[in-house]
Amino acid sequence: MEKEDITLTPKEIKEDKKINLRPKAITDFIGQENLKLNLDTFIKSSVKTKNNLDHIILYGPPGLGKTTLANIIAHEKNVNIHSTSGPAFSKKGDLVTLLSNLADGDILFIDEIHRLSPIIEESLYPAMEDFKCDYIIGAGPSARVMQISIEKFTLIGATTRLGLLSRPLRDRFGIPLQLEFYNPESLKEILILNAKKLNVDIEQMAAFEIAKRSRGTPRIAIRLLKRILDFSIVQNSQGINMDIVLNSLKQMRIDSEGLDEMDRKYLKCISNDYNGGPVGVETLSAALLEQRDIIEDVIEPYLMQKGLVQRTSRGRIVSRKGMNHIKSN
Ligand code: ADP
Repeated sequence: MEKEDITLTPKEIKEDKKINLRPKAITDFIGQENLKLNLDTFIKSSVKTKNNLDHIILYGPPGLGKTTLANIIAHEKNVNIHSTSGPAFSKKGDLVTLLSNLADGDILFIDEIHRLSPIIEESLYPAMEDFKCDYIIGAGPSARVMQISIEKFTLIGATTRLGLLSRPLRDRFGIPLQLEFYNPESLKEILILNAKKLNVDIEQMAAFEIAKRSRGTPRIAIRLLKRILDFSIVQNSQGINMDIVLNSLKQMRIDSEGLDEMDRKYLKCISNDYNGGPVGVETLSAALLEQRDIIEDVIEPYLMQKGLVQRTSRGRIVSRKGMNHIKSN
């Protein structure tokens, strides 16, 4: 469900695993200070009291570290993590099998949890609340519903927007944690750490320039770093300097605010074709040939945070700042 340019390619996933770019301990997770402080307290309390860690819902735009955090929680608690995603469940039986295989304290991570089917979602409720699970034996008139007890586990759900979850599911998470866009200083730190892991020298100023143009998102920062590294290798440069960064970003058409072609297409569509707005999201989706989900969850959050676009009850409006940005880029 992610915009093409921030989805990891199979090659990148392999690279990520090989070089292990994902932080493991909570202390290696950069930024999100308030979230980390709270989370650290809840984990420590559960370890100290030997009580089960309450279910956690992580929400925020893609690429901000939800999956990474789920793995860090498992690492900090020293338990196993079983990862799956909402669309991966087709049968109720899949969920029962998964739940009955969990050991005491284990973590079940469900990415895109808002995409669970209603039947699966309902069968999760007794598991989350009472650590019990219903299953059906047999078929037709002789079918019987049996209930089994499962080990106490922590469900960690991830979603792009909390509002996408049904109310009953949302209410069953004791710990809601919102991930926010990163500031350039934190992204710079992430870039320098990743450059070290990739064994490449990077100038401080160059790292900061990439950070400023990464849409507040670590996944995009890391991706840009890798692509700029490609440019520096081909140009036989010793490491990554400001010149390489500026030229590579220009070549990849990433502008001064870190916006790419799609962002600019979105802004231009509203400002040029619809006189600055308001325009409804369905109209934009049709005009840009882009799914509504992508527009709402991937493109718009950053543009709104930057004050380039506003969502109103009548539709989207490009701000004066947005208009000026289009004119100068
Ligand atoms: P999400 O699940 O929210 O889409 P991920 O957890 O997959 O995001 O993170 C995307 C990439 O960014 C991963 O390679 C991860 O290692 C890196 N990353 C995310 N947050 C951080 C952070 N706070 N510190 C260091 N690296 C991070």
